[in-house]
Amino acid sequence: MPHTIPPSLNTAALLQKYGLRPRKKLGQNFLQDPNILEKIVDIAEVSEEDTVLEIGPGLGSLTRHLAARAKKVIAVEIDSWIIPALESSLAGYANAEIINKDVLQIAPSEIISAPEYLVVANIPYYITSAIIRHLLENKPRAHRLVLTIQKEVAERICTPEGKKMSLLALSIQVYGKPEIVAKIPAGAFYPPPKVDSAVIRISLYDEPRIPTVLLDDFFRLAKAGFSQKRKNLRNALSTGLRLEKGQCESLLHNAGIDPRRRAETLDLKEWGELTEYWRKKK
Ligand code: SAM
Repeated sequence: MPHTIPPSLNTAALLQKYGLRPRKKLGQNFLQDPNILEKIVDIAEVSEEDTVLEIGPGLGSLTRHLAARAKKVIAVEIDSWIIPALESSLAGYANAEIINKDVLQIAPSEIISAPEYLVVANIPYYITSAIIRHLLENKPRAHRLVLTIQKEVAERICTPEGKKMSLLALSIQVYGKPEIVAKIPAGAFYPPPKVDSAVIRISLYDEPRIPTVLLDDFFRLAKAGFSQKRKNLRNALSTGLRLEKGQCESLLHNAGIDPRRRAETLDLKEWGELTEYWRKKK
């Protein structure tokens, strides 16, 4: 069914009307270009059966475009000062619910009752990793996440497995497949941030690629492995897990991994095998 494209918001005028200034500390860089907002909603493939969780609605620009197409939008905003302006711009959208809370302090299960949901958000850059991990490590997990984030971080997250992986990329790729689907220049935001942005889509697997029973141990191992990036795995694991170097060496050998390799070179299958051996040894 065709939907009505919401009229664009005038960010500067709305801020002025409510006596607000963008709060840098909260990562407030607002999007107002209706073409970009529509594109984000297209990428997320939002349909009228969907429940969408939005993090950081700000003045509601993206929220309106989401609400025009979704069944329901649950928008979690930490900033109490911005809520009156947000309420005014969402006045005509009865399917948009505002929750004035820190998203990191609520589990998705407290606010989502639908059996499935999507996350679509232009998230505050200062807590990108924390938000993504919060969403992936708590249940219920979304079907798909479509997030506008710093371009450099997006590129890091989408690094192919085993090629200079970071702990963040690994922690995301265990749950889903991330891809960069659009680039957004800094000038599209008000005020413009210092860096360009990108939209990433993470399509979640039905089950994580490391068996659920091993996930805690996998994260402990991976954190230890990445804790000293310049060190080889034998030394990094020995320090991070407080094990003898010899023990780490035989653990790595048993898993078929050269102890001189660095954490960033392992793919998920190797992390999985290493985790299984470590679990058996414990
Ligand atoms: N969605 C709006 C847009 O695209 O114009 C605003 C995006 S702005 C980059 C990020 C928003 O996240 C801000 O409104 C900010 O107040 C909010 N925010 C920051 N930290 C948050 C947190 N911990 N929980 C919920 N919202 C947060």
